[in-house]
Amino acid sequence: MATGTTFDVGEMRIRILDDGVFITDAGNLFGGSRKMRIRGAMHAVLVETGDNLVLIDAGFGPELPEALVGRYELRREKSLMDHLQEAGHAAEDITHVILSHLDADHVGWALEPPSFPNATVYVQEDALEEAREMPEGDGRREAVPAVEKGVEEGWCELLNGSGEVVPGIRVEIRSGHSAGHQIVWIGDGDDAALYTADLAPAKIWLDPDLISGVDTDPEAARRNRIEVLEEAESKDATVILYHEPGDFLVKIRHTEKGFEAVPMEG
Ligand SMILES: [Zn+2]
Repeated sequence: MATGTTFDVGEMRIRILDDGVFITDAGNLFGGSRKMRIRGAMHAVLVETGDNLVLIDAGFGPELPEALVGRYELRREKSLMDHLQEAGHAAEDITHVILSHLDADHVGWALEPPSFPNATVYVQEDALEEAREMPEGDGRREAVPAVEKGVEEGWCELLNGSGEVVPGIRVEIRSGHSAGHQIVWIGDGDDAALYTADLAPAKIWLDPDLISGVDTDPEAARRNRIEVLEEAESKDATVILYHEPGDFLVKIRHTEKGFEAVPMEG
């Protein structure tokens, strides 16, 4: 079913885009003072439904946000916009942008400046609320003015919970990493793909006991991670891992310790 970074779910074609990789100290992701450097990819998802062209999450944007300079390094030869063009689409073609939450590595191209002039950008109201309460200089807080402007100007729509954004694409609230954090189901039944966003963004997160220093509610994140991964396994869903630099299209299988990712045939 999967050829490279493109696969089909029902009538929908899913293309995995890419906005480069970031490099940061492990301590920035897991808390503590771990000095190990780790790499994270940014695999935004493009879904061609026939009627709609839906982008799920939007990378870092044109450059590394100022708040992260010094703590993060961004490496890329091609950006998300280059990959979009290579997939045969212009920025104007995007009709919907779903933002899983408001961290800078997920909202870049969508908000400041907005790169998709014909798209509605979907943000959970709870995620916005939480971002307003974050300290000055926090990445989520930085996204607030752009979201508020988008709401005012009509290109940003606030969602209140789980539901279908377009036929075949459903967001589901799975908080923990942030308030109002949403994952995305594409298709349903036993023909589905799942975008886990930062609930389980890379293979190392399949260990449910991994406590992440960047989750605002680690216990909720853990509970939701287990429930969602069990559901993904039972549906045999293709899972898209946003930050996984290696095999980012996987199936989930139970192990004694937790879960493992089985790479899709490329
Ligand atoms: Zn992230």
